[in-house]
Amino acid sequence: MSPLNQATEALTKKGYHLVGSGAVKPCLWLNRSLRGGDQCYKNHFYGISSHRCVQMTPTLECNHQCLHCWRPIDDPLPAKEPMEPKELLDGILRGQQKFISGYGGAKTTDQERLAEARQPKHVAISLMGEPTLYPYLKELIDLIRQQSMTSFVVSNATRPEVLAEILPTQLYLSINAPDEEMYRRVCRPTADLWPKILESLEIIKQHRCRSVIRLTLARGLNMERAKDYAHLIAKAEPDYVEVKAYMHLGRSRDRLTREDMPQHAEILEFARDLGEALGYELEADVPLSRVALLTSGRVSRNLEG
Ligand code: SF4
Repeated sequence: MSPLNQATEALTKKGYHLVGSGAVKPCLWLNRSLRGGDQCYKNHFYGISSHRCVQMTPTLECNHQCLHCWRPIDDPLPAKEPMEPKELLDGILRGQQKFISGYGGAKTTDQERLAEARQPKHVAISLMGEPTLYPYLKELIDLIRQQSMTSFVVSNATRPEVLAEILPTQLYLSINAPDEEMYRRVCRPTADLWPKILESLEIIKQHRCRSVIRLTLARGLNMERAKDYAHLIAKAEPDYVEVKAYMHLGRSRDRLTREDMPQHAEILEFARDLGEALGYELEADVPLSRVALLTSGRVSRNLEG
């Protein structure tokens, strides 16, 4: 089998439904929600229904090799030409529906939620890879909006020129180090990208959409110097900051240890220190996901209304 086919098969086995250059993969919270269970922290923070959320990416490529990344970034990836946004979104939504249809006959399924899931309301562009490397990201987001769905884009902040032109419902920048030296150690960029990250922080400050800075913290790696993080984050003046524990899952288990995973109490303590330095309030937290939300107090949290 060719390396390309091997890579495709490996991703398919892990539950990725590949569509052109991208992929969709229903997350475990969608499964729990369809069985009438709890929903992901995005539900607790922003009112997003997990069973109506499509977790996808328009590209599998990334220009980082983050130590904490769950995804199979160390493996060869199927190199594919970027797909046109309409074709990509249609394929992604079909893939999601195919997955959801498997719940139809199960006794454990919450039928009301299943009916809702047939009409997704939210697209999380955050599955794997760096979405700003997809050349039609702006058009894809515009299409999502035209179909009356909200969108979250999670970016590693290395392509400010793309961030400046897109308009998702909520734009996340993952910032996992307070300075360049730590950034190189934690995110292992493929080029000299720190100046781009600083540029992206400035762009977020001017942006018209809701903005979030997300920190993924691992004990003994990057969970230190809250004041230095605050100094960096202040450049962006984001609406929210999410402080999240590294979780010892997926392929990150090859790079970090279980002991690197902070407890929720440590995340709360870090979030409080960061909030104090930034002048943001600690507004919510979800112990199961080991995540805390700091708010600037400027926008209302609930998106589904
Ligand atoms: S930027 Fe995201 S997708 Fe890329 S390596 Fe880091 S965590 Fe993984």
